[in-house]
Amino acid sequence: MIVKEKDVCKECEAICCRNLAVPITKPKNIAEIDDLRWKLHFDTVKVYIKSRRWYLLIKGKCMYLSDTNLCKIYERRPEVCRDHKSDSCEMTGQWYDKMISSPEELDAYIKQKRKR
Ligand code: SF4
Ligand code: SF4
Repeated sequence: MIVKEKDVCKECEAICCRNLAVPITKPKNIAEIDDLRWKLHFDTVKVYIKSRRWYLLIKGKCMYLSDTNLCKIYERRPEVCRDHKSDSCEMTGQWYDKMISSPEELDAYIKQKRKR
């Protein structure tokens, strides 16, 4: 993340350092759907699906992001940050197949999938 030597990153407000993506399992039953619906009540939380994998997307700024959008621990940043590539990131790439922003959108998505 925040690879500042690349032009695309220079024009970006470090979106990747403001997005916490947590892998989750696809909800399989009423209780799991209800639990995920509840998480989507929060305005800092979304769910996205990429290549059939589900993620919780939590908005929040990394404590090591500087006021000028640089990583304060760049040399010792975590592996997940090193692996994040600017050619397939939140700024440049198709980084999700489906974004779900509310309980209603989750219901609609599940309903649509069940019809197929
Ligand atoms: S979201 Fe993409 S363009 Fe922006 S800082 Fe992160 S890697 Fe660079
Ligand atoms: S550790 Fe650095 S690169 Fe990783 S999310 Fe925080 S500010 Fe961004």
